[in-house]
Amino acid sequence: MLVVCLAWCGVARAPAQAPHAGPGPEEGTRRILEEVDQHSELMANLEYLCDMIGPRLTGSQALNRASEWTRGKFQGYGLANVTLEGWKIPRSWTRGVASGRVVSPVEQRLRLESAGWAPGTEGPTRGRVILLKAEKPADLDAYRGKVRGAWILCGSGRIPPERRGFLSEEGAAGIFRDSNKEHGLINMTGANYDYSRARIPEAFLTSESYRLLARLLGRGEVEVEIDVKNSFGDCEVEVFNTVAELVGVEMPDEVVIVGGHIDSWDLGTGATDNGTGIMAVIEAARALKASGVRPRRTIRFVLFAGEEQGLHGSKAYVEAHESEMDKISAVLVHDAGTGRVTNIGLQGRYDLREIMDRVVGPFQGRLNLDELSLRKMGGTDHLSFLPARVPAFAVVQHPAEYGKTHHTQSDTFDKVDPA
Ligand SMILES: [Zn+2]
Repeated sequence: MLVVCLAWCGVARAPAQAPHAGPGPEEGTRRILEEVDQHSELMANLEYLCDMIGPRLTGSQALNRASEWTRGKFQGYGLANVTLEGWKIPRSWTRGVASGRVVSPVEQRLRLESAGWAPGTEGPTRGRVILLKAEKPADLDAYRGKVRGAWILCGSGRIPPERRGFLSEEGAAGIFRDSNKEHGLINMTGANYDYSRARIPEAFLTSESYRLLARLLGRGEVEVEIDVKNSFGDCEVEVFNTVAELVGVEMPDEVVIVGGHIDSWDLGTGATDNGTGIMAVIEAARALKASGVRPRRTIRFVLFAGEEQGLHGSKAYVEAHESEMDKISAVLVHDAGTGRVTNIGLQGRYDLREIMDRVVGPFQGRLNLDELSLRKMGGTDHLSFLPARVPAFAVVQHPAEYGKTHHTQSDTFDKVDPA
C-alpha cells in the first residue's frame, strides 16, 4: 500500500525555502520504510480488531464499534478530515444457533450454518431430503408439486434467484448448500445482495455433512430435522465508511484513494477478509503521517462497509461523491488476505503500465514484486469506481491460505502472517 501512496501521489519536491518542503522521493521512500520497519502497529491493531471487536457483519453493532474505533485510530495518528460517512441498509440480520441431524435411516449429526439474511425455521423442522438436479430453469418443472416440506440439496454453486423463488413457492422446507471446503470448514455468504428477507431457510453444510446426505440418498429416503434461529431487525440501519486524509501540499483537491472493506462475515472474525486489508490502509496512513513525507496530492484513506453483501459501501461512496470523481486520480484496494502483495493488477489498462512502473519501481527490490500484469481483479470495492471512469485497482496477492479462511469460521487472527 505504501508503495503506491508515495510514488502515485508524488512527493512534494518543493525547494528548501517553501513552507511545506518535505523530503524528496528517495529520502521519502527511506523514511516510510523505516517507519514501517521500526514502529508498525499493524499486528497489535489487527489483534484488537479481531479479538476485542470481533466479526463485523454489516448492520451489526460490532461493525459500528469497529468504524468508531478506526476513526479514533486515524485521529490518533494525526490524519486530517477524519469522518464517518453514513449510509443505510434496509434491515440488519442476526445469526442464531443452527443445528441439524439425520433422523432416518440412521441417526447422524449434521454440521451447518445459515446463509446471511435467510430466515430461521419455526422450531425443529423435519422433512425428507431431495437432491435437486437442475441446470436450466426448465429443469425445475420436473420438481413441481414434489418438494413441499422437503430440504433441498442444491450443490455448491451460486443459486439462481429463480431457483430460490421456485423452491419457496413450492413450499420446500429449506435449501442446503455444499460449503465445498475441506475439513469441516463452512462457507458463508448471503442468500441475497439487497438485505431483503430471504423467503425460505438456507444453510451451508460442511462438505462432510452434505456428502453424507448425498450418499444416504443413494440408499433410499432420508429424513432430517433442522433447527435454525435467526432474526431480522425491523428498521433501516445506518452503517459507516471511515474516511481520513493526508492533505496534499500542491494539489489538495486531487485525490488518490487507498481503501479496503471493514465489514466481514460473522463465523470467524474477519482477520484475512478483510482485517489485513484495512490494517494495511491504516498502517499506510500512520507511517506516511509519521514519516513526515508530504504528498503533492491528497491521499484519502477509506474503509468501506457493506462490501460482503455487494460492494454497497463503495457504491454509496461513489454516489455521495459523484461531483468529485474527476479529481480522483486513482483508487487502490487491498482485499485478498494475508499473502504478500505480488503486484497491482492493471485492470486491463495497458496504457497505464509506464506510470505504474514508476509507482512500484522504488519498492520493486524490497518487496520482490512480479512483473506488472493486465490482470482484472474482481469481487471487491475498486470495481465500484470503474463506472465513474476512475482508474481503480486491487493489489494482487499470494493466495496463502485464503481458500481456507475466506468466508469461513477459520478466518481468525492466528491465520495472519505478520510478514
Ligand atoms: Zn473481502
